[in-house]
Amino acid sequence: MNNAERADPTTHFDVEAVRQDFPILHQQVNGHPLVYLDNAATTQKPRAVIDAISDYYLYDNSNVHRGAHALAERATAKFEGARETVAQFLNAPGREQILWTRGTTESVNLVAHSWGRTELKPGDRILVSAMEHHSNIVPWQMIAEATGARVEAIPVDKTGTLDMEAFESKLKEGRVRMVSVGHVSNALGTVNPIEQIIQAAHEAGALVMIDGAQAVSHWPVDVQALDCDFYAFSAHKLFGPTGIGVLYGRRELLEAMPPYQGGGEMIQHVSFEGTSFGPLPYKFEAGTPDIAGAIGLAAAIDYVNGLDRAAAVAYERVLLAYAEEKAQATEGVTLVGTAAHKVSVLSFLVEGTHPNDLGFLLDQQGVAVRTGNHCAEPIMEQYGIPGTVRASFSFYNTFDEVDRLFEALDKARQFF
Ligand code: PLP
Repeated sequence: MNNAERADPTTHFDVEAVRQDFPILHQQVNGHPLVYLDNAATTQKPRAVIDAISDYYLYDNSNVHRGAHALAERATAKFEGARETVAQFLNAPGREQILWTRGTTESVNLVAHSWGRTELKPGDRILVSAMEHHSNIVPWQMIAEATGARVEAIPVDKTGTLDMEAFESKLKEGRVRMVSVGHVSNALGTVNPIEQIIQAAHEAGALVMIDGAQAVSHWPVDVQALDCDFYAFSAHKLFGPTGIGVLYGRRELLEAMPPYQGGGEMIQHVSFEGTSFGPLPYKFEAGTPDIAGAIGLAAAIDYVNGLDRAAAVAYERVLLAYAEEKAQATEGVTLVGTAAHKVSVLSFLVEGTHPNDLGFLLDQQGVAVRTGNHCAEPIMEQYGIPGTVRASFSFYNTFDEVDRLFEALDKARQFF
């Protein structure tokens, strides 16, 4: 049976057509056709994104906002147009609530340092989940150390599901100022019930930051419907370039927050007697920004918007279910992360093997996965494991590729 015959006909998703948009997928690696299953680390880029970046450098390259010439005007129009594209993508109320950052990591650092530095007092509490990526733990620890606040983990059970009862009791204990959780866990694939988390946190008087790094590539996000205070993501996990990301923030919070970094672009007036800062969003954007990155991200969003997203979501769900079934039917394979609501990620262990050795042997057969703790050391420690093998899927992966993964696993196991 080929991929089309195996895909759930209700998904109506033409994966073969979509694969044509991604040049990198059509190559041999170590003598085998590439099977790219490392999408949670970074996604591949469609030609439209590569072309948008190259066209910018070929025809429009200039600094933005300050030039008195045609190229500067074109670069500025594209750069600010990209901000508008992101605002619409997240359904943000205004484009000035979209801040460019280097990625999710910098977005969390920006909130932790700017909001945290002025708002947190000794004894205040910040809640994160036990399955967070390090980038949603360490910035909070740093600001907690500086302010006397403390970071606490919301427990996660052995399936990778957040303990909502424990979360609500923590809220009841008081003094929770910030709840910062991942929309989707990169290590386990768990989709967290963020609507419920946001509502409960707000009722307790806490703000909520959502790390959307692993979510935006899988389904549309509406920050107004979610009612979150901050939402962060990285372009490179959404088929865009590396080095650029986004922070969405509630307007009144961003207005009250001090700048994160100082320099050019973010000021209104500078003198040795005192400096005043620019309006949103520029107050948070010191220095020459990643102009090509913003344009590349906008092209990625246009690309994703041009797909039938409902069909893509359904296709990815069926693909993951197929991979999970195969894993469960394979002797000696244990899934790590079996929450009821999951997306994209198949994290697993194979009896008698170390994840890193398996990763190497899979690579020799052209299958790209990630191994290790996936920057989520606390949850690996809780499970008493050094890490996992992680295959993470995107809508351009196929059922044949899932078969290739399991065939390669079988072969790899013969070495042990
Ligand atoms: N949060 C999650 C859930 C992630 O998966 C990642 C990256 O793997 C990050 C944050 C950090 O993203 P970046 O390295 O693009 O800043």
